[in-house]
Amino acid sequence: MRAWRLLEWKSEPVLMDIPEPEPGPGQVVIKVGGSGACHSDLHLMRDFDIGTVPWNPAFTLGHEIAGWVHALGDGVTDLEIGLPVAVHGAWGCGACARCRVGAENYCEDPVAAPIPAGGCGLGLDGGMADYVLVPDARYLLPLPDGLDPVQAAPLTDAGLTPYHAVRRSWPKLQPGSTAVVIGVGGLGHLAVQILAATTAARIIAVDNRADARALAEKCGADLTVDPADDTAAQIRDVAHGRGADVILDFVGTTQTLALGAQSARSMGDLTLVGLAGGTLPLSFFATAYEVSVQTVYWGTRPDLVEVLDLAGRGQLTAAITTSGLDDMMDVYRRMEAGEITGRVVITP
Ligand code: NAD
Ligand code: ZN
Ligand code: ZN
Repeated sequence: MRAWRLLEWKSEPVLMDIPEPEPGPGQVVIKVGGSGACHSDLHLMRDFDIGTVPWNPAFTLGHEIAGWVHALGDGVTDLEIGLPVAVHGAWGCGACARCRVGAENYCEDPVAAPIPAGGCGLGLDGGMADYVLVPDARYLLPLPDGLDPVQAAPLTDAGLTPYHAVRRSWPKLQPGSTAVVIGVGGLGHLAVQILAATTAARIIAVDNRADARALAEKCGADLTVDPADDTAAQIRDVAHGRGADVILDFVGTTQTLALGAQSARSMGDLTLVGLAGGTLPLSFFATAYEVSVQTVYWGTRPDLVEVLDLAGRGQLTAAITTSGLDDMMDVYRRMEAGEITGRVVITP
């Protein structure tokens, strides 16, 4: 089968012909229907180095996957061949306190996990391939009626990660509150929809690209802003002069983090999702009082159940275009040049 393999850090992946995986006991092989092209893959190719994460190449890229059950290992009895499924790609040990509640994205037993703090397409072979080996049937969630694998693929990361970020801030997003989404790409456009579907917050979307701002409006943003020197003041104005209750940064440069810190209301949340590598110097007066600053990584399996439910009921729809497996690097080059709106799904 064909697979895009990252062979070393700071290199472009290579499309290779490798043997189709065979499922061992408890494992499942999925025929890939859709594999989302995530900006994190670009960071893997361009920015990451030995020691950045606790795993290393070589592996097949692709961590945002849905498809059909293709082959079952011994002991897997509750799945049928051909069933459309989404893959929860954070593969932990399954037994530690975090994994037992489905938070395998934060597995605390890196020795027992298949790979420390990694997962599908992140240290282990992922879905930029014809088939993907899933190490345990618990990572597979049946798709709701009417949702096909191509539409569902981005939900497993571009939907799941912002859902996890928004969900943890729900108590701060009551009527009268303001949420800011910085960076309206694959993740950000779904973040706007998740905020609109699950909270009463006024939504401000910030992106330097007009097409991204137009998409944010379609997704339910109340106001879109082209970042400039006075963006923080503009946000504070709209947010009743107090600042935004929750800011989700899907870029992560020093500049966007500074914007977040300057825009946050006292007791607000500033949540860093983007991996651009910027920093936020912390000092007593760097933010309003009691602002919480946190990173989030991916989402839990229960989160993904809820994301799929929202999508099944038509409240969450990824804006996608599709591309063939052979054209994957062309997609990442377009992403790097800022030429992609929404998400591109690779369809092997
Ligand atoms: P994307 O390329 O689809 O979207 C990024 C968007 O940010 C684009 O619309 C771009 O125009 C906009 N942007 C860039 N610089 C900006 C700036 N200075 N101000 C405002 N907008 C700006 O990327 P994506 O796939 O949505 O991923 C977003 C980020 O999230 C990436 O860094 C990715 O690696 C990261 N990510 C993190 C997690 C996690 O678990 N923490 C999961 C998935 C992706
Ligand atoms: Zn991703
Ligand atoms: Zn674990």
